[in-house]
Amino acid sequence: MEIIHISAECYPVAKAGGLGDVVGALPKYQAKAGHYAKVVMPMYETKFLHNNEFIEDFKGTIYLGNWELPYTIIKEKNNILGFDLYLVDIKGLLDRTGIYNYDDDTERFMAFQIAVMDWMNHWEHHPDIIHCHDHHTALIPFMMQHCYSFKNKLEKIPSILTIHNAQYQGWMGWNKSHYLPHYDTWKAGLLEWNNAINSLACGVKCAWRVTTVSQSYMQELSWNSNGLENLFTHEKDKCSGILNGIDVEVWNPKTDTFLEHHYNAKSVVVGKQRNKEELCKQFNLDANKPLIVFIGRLVEEKAADILPNIIVSCMYAMPDSMNFLILGSGDPHIEWQLKNLNNQFANHYHVEIGYNEALSHKMYAGADFLLMPSRVEPCGLNQMYAMCYGTVPIVRSTGGLQDTVIDMGDEGGYGIRFNHAAVGDVHHSVYRAITVFNDSKKMLEMCRTMMNIDHSWEKAVGNYINLYNSVIEK
Ligand code: ADP
Repeated sequence: MEIIHISAECYPVAKAGGLGDVVGALPKYQAKAGHYAKVVMPMYETKFLHNNEFIEDFKGTIYLGNWELPYTIIKEKNNILGFDLYLVDIKGLLDRTGIYNYDDDTERFMAFQIAVMDWMNHWEHHPDIIHCHDHHTALIPFMMQHCYSFKNKLEKIPSILTIHNAQYQGWMGWNKSHYLPHYDTWKAGLLEWNNAINSLACGVKCAWRVTTVSQSYMQELSWNSNGLENLFTHEKDKCSGILNGIDVEVWNPKTDTFLEHHYNAKSVVVGKQRNKEELCKQFNLDANKPLIVFIGRLVEEKAADILPNIIVSCMYAMPDSMNFLILGSGDPHIEWQLKNLNNQFANHYHVEIGYNEALSHKMYAGADFLLMPSRVEPCGLNQMYAMCYGTVPIVRSTGGLQDTVIDMGDEGGYGIRFNHAAVGDVHHSVYRAITVFNDSKKMLEMCRTMMNIDHSWEKAVGNYINLYNSVIEK
């Protein structure tokens, strides 16, 4: 089966979060299962681009309104990712160092989607599946079916939309509708939600099937999806949840290239202690006390806004009992509040502001606990990485966290769960963490249980292939 993944991110080419991890791994494991998987993404100015060899595959021109935009498709030459990687180069729009957060993101991702359609329109064959990821690519199912230049060639190809995060929807005013290639205006309603063009809503309406990254999040979307609740309720028959896997070639304490001290479930105690000591030395923390880490975007969705109060509350109520180490970036006010605590709780607290892939791996390996108080967590990869590295997750019961973590108080449990993204709930969970940390037998039992859980991609790949087959047969 030939599957074309279209995405704004793909690890290790460009990653801002879980989307990058998934699009870097799913095609690789689909290829291992005997399918022909390709990834198409924007060509950003990244290290990966400059450190690898590419060949030109196609040159074309598109229009964004009246704006004529030449584009080039380049292909990574040596299949080093385990699948074919194609980058779309649009000079002046996509060739930037960052992935998102530019004022013209609407224009950038609209142009990207049109260029991908234009290129595929020149192909001599039909792929079996077009798999779009998140709102940056969610107008593609509409373009395939209702834009006059593409529909003859592309409308019969099944399209799948996977939602990695429904908070971000790609809204734009109707004054930008002229960016779209000429489309059947009778179908304009498909583009709209709440008086604006809403890319994600349009994708949900037009894709043949919609998936999201856990079953609990799929259910949650009907009552909490940033305004799209009625749409998800209405479209529920074509929606399903498929839990992400993790790429065990990248995330594995036995082989992780970012770690100096490797370990497995047998050597977990010594292995983790060595990694912890190194991490604590680097940030001047107390290696004899539990180390609780947070890794992620510092935004409300992740409940990062309550982190400063959690830290203050725990540090005052349980002084000298734990360390907190935080890695992330996001809301400048949260960053500022967290940085201010660096001096106040030196020796037991440190925040690193920024994105640091290597440090994140060291933290999963060296920490005792990983805190995720997320208000919204579609799947959450961090807790799965943590478990794989023998680090106990402390999570709010929501979305994928609820589907992957069993509380240590329940039969066969290995994590700590709480219900509300509130300081009191987290404080109590930290107290439980400190208590269990002192019970080395229980800690070891939980570590080994977690490290033996199978989070590999094979199961998810099977579920996606079944889904593809169900629409191909149709
Ligand atoms: P998101 O909602 O951000 O996509 P996920 O849990 O699905 O959340 O995935 C987060 C991914 O991004 C993980 O691989 C995590 O380690 C990584 N990550 C997030 N923030 C940082 C950071 N500041 N530095 C390094 N890695 C990060």
